[in-house]
Amino acid sequence: MIERIILNIEPRDPYLEYLFQTASLTSRRVVPMLRPSPDDLAKAKGDNDMVLRCCDRAYRRKTGRDMVIFHYQSIIVYRGFYLTPQGTVHTTRTLIAKQQIEKILSDILEDPANLREAYRKNFGLLWGRRDRIYADPRLFFARSGLSTSRGEPVPLGAMLRAMEEYPEDFSVPASEWHPCGVPQLIIDFQYDLPDKDGGWDWNFHRFCPVCGEVTFELRKGALRGDRNRLSRLVRRTMTRYSDGMGMSGLTVLDVIDRLEEEQAADD
Ligand SMILES: [Zn+2]
Repeated sequence: MIERIILNIEPRDPYLEYLFQTASLTSRRVVPMLRPSPDDLAKAKGDNDMVLRCCDRAYRRKTGRDMVIFHYQSIIVYRGFYLTPQGTVHTTRTLIAKQQIEKILSDILEDPANLREAYRKNFGLLWGRRDRIYADPRLFFARSGLSTSRGEPVPLGAMLRAMEEYPEDFSVPASEWHPCGVPQLIIDFQYDLPDKDGGWDWNFHRFCPVCGEVTFELRKGALRGDRNRLSRLVRRTMTRYSDGMGMSGLTVLDVIDRLEEEQAADD
């Protein structure tokens, strides 16, 4: 998963430095670095961080394409879009450029597959603080990246509630290959590609409540009934708690940040 985006900001135009820096303020998971040395960049970069080079080019009048482009790990802004020939800044276009940069960043971080991975990776934290999530609608209705078999997005709180309220359905017995010897929670399940017989395989992830390990298993299509049943239980839980409410503006990444912050304050 991508946990953070580091912006390696190195445009020729100083105004654009400012623009990239302000665009990075929208998420705590975007880290702006102004002309970092290769050493500084290597030090700052974690295993799950993506580095994007932020630079500028002169205006290409003929193309008529977007003036902010995401290409080969780079965000390129065309100067001629927001600078007039006299070198002054075009206010409205600056705003458009900034919004386009922000959209590139949020599309990467908030991609459902990325959110889903964040959910699994941080499941121990989310599960441990589920009462806190239930108590705050913004956290409850955060986007988890999970979806039902009908493709409806599942709010984070509804998924946790479903596991809590149908413990027998969402657990698998202790197995001999895992040392903890306790039943494990099924925390995610989804279709994989169809197998060669035309049946759907599905993969599922389980969480060990003792050691916190998340493991993964691919199941053959014969067990499809299990998956449909779980999906139905999630939908039922969603209906019960959602009451027509949409998603909150937060994602599971925001929830993780908030819970970690609260935990640090408590320590
Ligand atoms: Zn374990």
